[in-house]
Amino acid sequence: RAKLAGGSCYQVFSEEMHVMARDRLSLEVGLQQALERDEFTLHYQPIYCLKDNHLYGFEALIRWQHPTEGLLSPERFIPLAEETSLIVPIGDWVLWQVCRDLQRWQEQYPQHSFCVNVNLSNRQLMHPSLVEQVLAALEQTQVPPESLHLEITESVGMDKPEQVRDILLALKAHGLKLSMDDFGTGYSSLSYLTNLPIDSLKVDRSFVKLITETNQQHSVIDAILSLAKGLNLEVVAEGVEHAYQVIRLRELGCDYAQGYYFSRPLTREQVDQLLVERYRA
Ligand code: C2E
Ligand code: MG
Ligand code: MG
Ligand code: MG
Repeated sequence: RAKLAGGSCYQVFSEEMHVMARDRLSLEVGLQQALERDEFTLHYQPIYCLKDNHLYGFEALIRWQHPTEGLLSPERFIPLAEETSLIVPIGDWVLWQVCRDLQRWQEQYPQHSFCVNVNLSNRQLMHPSLVEQVLAALEQTQVPPESLHLEITESVGMDKPEQVRDILLALKAHGLKLSMDDFGTGYSSLSYLTNLPIDSLKVDRSFVKLITETNQQHSVIDAILSLAKGLNLEVVAEGVEHAYQVIRLRELGCDYAQGYYFSRPLTREQVDQLLVERYRA
């Protein structure tokens, strides 16, 4: 009997594995076609300055309008795109789309400056054509390089620190700004961080969550902010959902914030609307 149960157990397991492998394969095939079929889309989440409330810029966040599964979040397909290297052409598409959108918005509001943050996968950053692609997109669209901020993660090129440093220095030499995303969640050492030519830190949502209505002790965020100030870096808080978090972050000296409290990520049309309201009022 035990043997029988074990047998059926094995069968269920392998069936599940089969379904997973099939789903993965169809996702991979779909991902390959998604670029040609123009199924990706960008949402833009506003980032605000905590000192004077001005609109600092947006973070571009990719979505996939899947033909049968609806709008897919990046968590569903970015890991697979990274594994298969499709992240390189997808990442190029993001860069070009962001530059085209920025060009239009900057033409419409020449007296206001705002930036767009773009997430870079490690694999994309290490790809030999990255700097070339970034510069080509900027040049074609006439977007000033300082409007484009690239977000990298702590784990970037830990095995090839010299190579990463050179790439980042090349980008900085052309005027781009660099930001460390999800700061505090990785395993990078402080010496690694201080060796990278970055301009700002994004405090991960998991730390912002520690700011509750009753908790007055914010030693982790406090420490991150002191560290950032000591290194002359600006700080952006991610995942801000409550007014009391905004108040506390401002008191602690945090420069910028984004999160559902201010706004969810917006479609391009919603950004158009936001800019009209903010700048034409
Ligand atoms: P991330 O760069 O850390 O982006 C922030 C994520 O937090 C976004 O999820 C955003 O929608 C979400 N978020 C913002 N405010 C709040 C809040 O107040 N509460 C909560 N619970 N969540 C909030 P999203 O759009 O699903 O993106 C997930 C991740 O996918 C991003 O994390 C980023 O690592 C990656 N990603 C997104 N777009 C791209 C892209 O174009 N290229 C690459 N390589 N990665 C991307
Ligand atoms: Mg990000
Ligand atoms: Mg982040
Ligand atoms: Mg994150």
